[in-house]
Amino acid sequence: MYGLSAEDLQIQDRARTFADELIPFEVEAEMNGGDLPKDVVAAHKARAIELGLYATNMPAELGGGGCSSLQQVLVQEQVGRVTNALAWVAATPPSWLPSVATPYQLERFVRPTVRGEREECYAITEEGAGSDVDAIIATARRDGDDYLLTGEKWHVTSYNSADYAFFQAKLVGGAHDGEHAMFLVDLPSPGVTVVRTPAYSHTISHHHPIVAFTDVRVPASHLVGAEGDGMSFAYEWFRFERMMVAARCLGGAQRLVEEMASFAQEREVQGRPIAALGAIQGMLADSQTELFAARSMVYETARGIDAGTDVKIQHAQCSMAKLYASEMAGRVADRAVQVFGGRGYMRENVAERFFRELRVERIWEGTSEVQRAIIADQMTKRGPRSLA
Ligand SMILES: Cc1cc2nc3c(=O)[nH]c(=O)nc-3n(C[C@H](O)[C@H](O)[C@H](O)COP(=O)(O)OP(=O)(O)OC[C@H]3O[C@@H](n4cnc5c(N)ncnc54)[C@H](O)[C@@H]3O)c2cc1C
Repeated sequence: MYGLSAEDLQIQDRARTFADELIPFEVEAEMNGGDLPKDVVAAHKARAIELGLYATNMPAELGGGGCSSLQQVLVQEQVGRVTNALAWVAATPPSWLPSVATPYQLERFVRPTVRGEREECYAITEEGAGSDVDAIIATARRDGDDYLLTGEKWHVTSYNSADYAFFQAKLVGGAHDGEHAMFLVDLPSPGVTVVRTPAYSHTISHHHPIVAFTDVRVPASHLVGAEGDGMSFAYEWFRFERMMVAARCLGGAQRLVEEMASFAQEREVQGRPIAALGAIQGMLADSQTELFAARSMVYETARGIDAGTDVKIQHAQCSMAKLYASEMAGRVADRAVQVFGGRGYMRENVAERFFRELRVERIWEGTSEVQRAIIADQMTKRGPRSLA
């Protein structure tokens, strides 16, 4: 890929090395419900920090990597080559938080998170509010110097390893009645309980439980930004996360293209490698071509952000990148299973694991349908040329 600086190539290389070190642990994790021994996970996290792959998106003055958007994409692309979420130890804390955090919040939450000492989770989605975040019914009620938080949140990823949660609710009473607000909730806290922990398609150590918050008391100092600001944080985070989802999809597809191309060379049927068969060649060529298209798109989007593209255009382009890269990765994973034949249906096979794992990339951080709605909306408001 053209146009990468020496610094870009170095961080890409470190991330590639890290991913290659994690790959040998995948099958053990898959066969153990996603878990690896605690000391192994701790060593992986320490290695991510040592290689400068931790909190790459956070400002350097807070101890983060201070990386450009393109560099963040390069890192997430490489770690996306690993299954079973083993590379989530190269965490990306909320980059929107430092600019709105109070000095108290910076010391208590942000800095320790950047150092890898604290871990967050997000409690936003509810049973009746996913794509339509505005439909949440969780409430936040001011009570003296505190707020009381109540609501049931779904799919709270990493709740089992996090030690604080972002909780989004609608305010009840006061000048901002009915508006959104975001709170920091230490975990565990009285009134926060797991309702149940459903099983999901992928096999990872991070659970996604349904969590009930019942009159959870937090000090007013745990309000993020101001009352009424809640939704603006969600939008900013979505933009970042959608590009990172797209980057990880590039990595997943890259791994699959390499693995299926190599298998197609080795596997012989009727005395010749299946790579010589037109039907197999079609699957390989389509996968490689679509990966190239997606990578060009994701890198270009990141470069635009680094060059200061208008934020509304960024929003639409991140949606396009996420939409295309996640759908591309899903098609590649489907073809990879097919190229591997019966082996592709075995859980010890990387294609089988990615086939399940990549499916959620079309759902979380906004479904494909929601991305299309965002793109079409911006086309109407700004004209198709502005998004090109
Ligand atoms: C594994 C996993 C982890 C997650 N982690 C978290 C987390 O940590 N924190 C958190 O808060 N949430 C999390 N989520 C929630 C995730 O963001 C939502 O599942 C997602 O936004 C979709 O919402 P929904 O499930 O309610 O689907 P719905 O909104 O009910 O959508 C159902 C269908 O309707 C379609 N649809 C909805 N609205 C529109 C529209 N306007 N136009 C066209 N079609 C539409 C959707 O595309 C979909 O096909 C997670 C989800 C999963 C599966």
